[in-house]
Amino acid sequence: MGENQPYDLVIIGAGPAGSTLARLLGRDCPDLRLLLLEKRALTTDDRQKCCGGLLAPDAAKILKRMKLTPPASLFQSRQPLKVRALDLKSGRSCSYPRPYGNLDRLALERWLVSLLPPQVEFRPGCACLGFGRRGEGWEIKVSNNETLRCRLLVSAEGAGSRLRRYLESQSGGQARRRDRALYLAVQDSFPEEWRSSEHTAFFHPGLTDFYGWVVPKQGETLLGLAMPLAASRRGGKTPGQVMAEARALLARQGYHFAAEPARRACLLLRPCADDLYLGAGGIDGLGGGALCIGEAAGWISPSSAEGFSYAFASARALAGAIRQEYQKGLKADNILAGYRRGTRLLRLNIAWKGLKARVMYSPFLRALIMASGVGAE
Ligand SMILES: Cc1cc2nc3c(=O)[nH]c(=O)nc-3n(C[C@H](O)[C@H](O)[C@H](O)COP(=O)(O)OP(=O)(O)OC[C@H]3O[C@@H](n4cnc5c(N)ncnc54)[C@H](O)[C@@H]3O)c2cc1C
Repeated sequence: MGENQPYDLVIIGAGPAGSTLARLLGRDCPDLRLLLLEKRALTTDDRQKCCGGLLAPDAAKILKRMKLTPPASLFQSRQPLKVRALDLKSGRSCSYPRPYGNLDRLALERWLVSLLPPQVEFRPGCACLGFGRRGEGWEIKVSNNETLRCRLLVSAEGAGSRLRRYLESQSGGQARRRDRALYLAVQDSFPEEWRSSEHTAFFHPGLTDFYGWVVPKQGETLLGLAMPLAASRRGGKTPGQVMAEARALLARQGYHFAAEPARRACLLLRPCADDLYLGAGGIDGLGGGALCIGEAAGWISPSSAEGFSYAFASARALAGAIRQEYQKGLKADNILAGYRRGTRLLRLNIAWKGLKARVMYSPFLRALIMASGVGAE
């Protein structure tokens, strides 16, 4: 589509949020001129996003509500039905039943884009390099030197969303607050099978105020840790040092990793309800609106970093708001207002998970809960 025929909507990022929004709009609004951009090629040998790939019961429920059943080929043979919570400082541990699905993350993404209806134009291997408002819409530069135009722009770029940063910088101040919610997730993949199908969540205040994980996969074991980005920027321990310390502490608890790992890292948000950012309205209420979904908006659990259910739910809410406006001229302000209404419960959910996190990540309260054995096997 050339410069003179702008898209109605461009979605940046084909992760769980972006591909869900594109699928729902392509199905329900067949005349919408819709483009989904993804910087990765999403071929079978593509780099996976750094992720545990665990499908929580909430995420499975939303897929079911959308009448989607992930094919068996997406799942690993070892489903971690229990989580072992391990306090590395006291050595105390408890196992909690949690029926997670153990997914191949890349296979999940490939499956989600395979469901896109034909009217969605999907461009894998095409990054959005920059954007700016133009007239009643947006002008976007993409990686093959092309300039595209659209009325509405959606960021489904994940935690490092450039569109969100740009919009927040225009409205002043919020970006700095979000920096406090940014974490660096480092994940090592060891080419060895873990002896147990249990998934471990470990805690130690000297490593992070969040948590680390050991997840068994087919033919590999993942060891990951989410650490506050501000601490490593302030000249604290390097991420490599924190990971080495975690490995040494885990070894004392019988977790030995022999082989050399492959390391990946990415940003992770850990929001408060205040860190959510849904977007900006349009110019004179018309075009030029921009919206954020999934982790770009801050939709992710601040207690567990579970993000699939929030990515699906926020994409569904925005699809509902756009569907309402589809025949009425796609007024950006109305879409934003509808999206806000459609995510009220999700916002409450984030606030509730924030409270839960305060208890879970207080070493004193966590020790009390683990000692009480509440909910444990
Ligand atoms: C280490 C780690 C482990 C996690 N484990 C789990 C887990 O086990 N279970 C769970 O439910 N959640 C987990 N999460 C959270 C989950 O991965 C995210 O919340 C979820 O993937 C968010 O989906 P999204 O679509 O919003 O963003 P993302 O999945 O981040 O997708 C963003 C997409 O946008 C693309 N993109 C970015 N910039 C551009 C650009 N400029 N142009 C074009 N494309 C672009 C990216 O390539 C990517 O495909 C984990 C997160 C991390 C960091």
